[in-house]
Amino acid sequence: MELNQFMQGLERRNPGQPEFHQAVREFASKVLPFVNEHPQYAKASILERMTEPDRIVIFRVCWEDDEGSVRVNRGWRVQFNNSIGPYKGGLRFDKSVTLSVLKFLGFEQVFKNSLTTLPMGGAKGGSDFNPKDKSDAEVMRFCQSFMTELHLHIGEDTDVPAGDIGVGAREVGYLFGQYKRLRNEFVGAMTGKGLAYGGSLVRTEATGYGAVYMAREMLAKRNESIEGRTCVVSGSGNVAQYAAEKLLELGGKVVTLSDRGGFLHMPGGFTSEQIAAVIDLKTRQRRSLADWAAECGCEHYAGERPWRVPCELAFPCATQNEIEIDDARTLLKNGCQLVSEGANMPTDFDAAMLFEEARILHAPSKAANAGGVAISGLEMTQNSMRLSWTRDEVDQRLQGIMRRIHEQCVEYGSEGDWIDYFKGANVAGFIKVADAMLAYGVL
Ligand code: NDP
Repeated sequence: MELNQFMQGLERRNPGQPEFHQAVREFASKVLPFVNEHPQYAKASILERMTEPDRIVIFRVCWEDDEGSVRVNRGWRVQFNNSIGPYKGGLRFDKSVTLSVLKFLGFEQVFKNSLTTLPMGGAKGGSDFNPKDKSDAEVMRFCQSFMTELHLHIGEDTDVPAGDIGVGAREVGYLFGQYKRLRNEFVGAMTGKGLAYGGSLVRTEATGYGAVYMAREMLAKRNESIEGRTCVVSGSGNVAQYAAEKLLELGGKVVTLSDRGGFLHMPGGFTSEQIAAVIDLKTRQRRSLADWAAECGCEHYAGERPWRVPCELAFPCATQNEIEIDDARTLLKNGCQLVSEGANMPTDFDAAMLFEEARILHAPSKAANAGGVAISGLEMTQNSMRLSWTRDEVDQRLQGIMRRIHEQCVEYGSEGDWIDYFKGANVAGFIKVADAMLAYGVL
């Protein structure tokens, strides 16, 4: 089958879902040639089956605001594929959440989880609720109402949600508390939990650290390192914070951070004290970077993304499609040699093509940001065993998993002396899920 023919069918079956179309196009452009060479997959219509979620639950979420008015939001859980383990994937609370966004995220999660080598299927969920302008009490009432429906569809062996944009430690606490109350059982039905109630050490840091470990592996393959390199990081939330922290630890110079209001530029590089201050600003004070610019003594560029700042290494860690073709051109013109995707699908299709033509090192999100879900998988293991591993033990496992993800990319993506990380990650992620589906027969 040919890519455009496959995509036409998918777009016809899923109208008005641009993010989902984009994620499938990127995946299929790399996997279809492999499928065409292996008729057992084509004959069983594996690609058509993989792009159809197992099920989607859509529900109403009613809650009362601080003025006593009743508010209504929509909740979703997209259970995409559980061929290799229980459904696993985060919850996103943001006003931009749509079914299309959650289907793209759930689809990506299937192959990301496969790459971790752990037994986890793929899912994603969330709501168009915006926690940004709400009080703690409102967020709690929303989370409790959301879980009152969601608990019917999840469980430690069924589907294990975690956080994502807008769902951090506070929200996970409210959600898990309500789950525990409704089910009257204390089991690992969510990850990203607080350390006091079943969380894993290093889970908070894992996605950001993992994206940097991936970059380290890619550079090591060329006998290069992060030390002394100028790094542009976007975002200032969970992933960006710990990507920046790890980059500093490995000798990199982090010159930018961003949020919805714009970006901060620190030409000499942020210090680790400043990164710690950003973590406090974003997770405890819930303030914007613009507010903090004067305090940290750096320039703030309102309404702009950081990609025009010259760098050698780029770490997009905010959201989808934050690198468009003009941003990619600027990054390449300024000498960028590596992009490691901390956020999910931060590079749009045309920008990714440009990076491919330039033959730079470009790790797709399903490989580069898999560290988060990998440690979520290890949180599930620790919960089942009813014990906790040390920080060093978990971090060593994270490094080992990122190394294995890199090896899989090299195995399936090597093209002469260049590695097509998109091809490698997509094909390696695909094979395991596809083989499990073949084993089950027609399901
Ligand atoms: P957070 O909510 O902690 O932080 C998100 C950051 O991105 C914030 O700085 C936010 O700005 C910024 N941002 C969000 N939307 C936009 C936008 N439309 N334009 C500009 N900036 C924006 O989320 P995470 O750090 O957890 O997630 C970031 C990305 O990483 C997402 O793509 C997520 O799917 C992905 N990811 C996260 C994992 C995790 O473990 N947390 C695991 C794997 C992937 P502001 O502060 O103004 O809100």
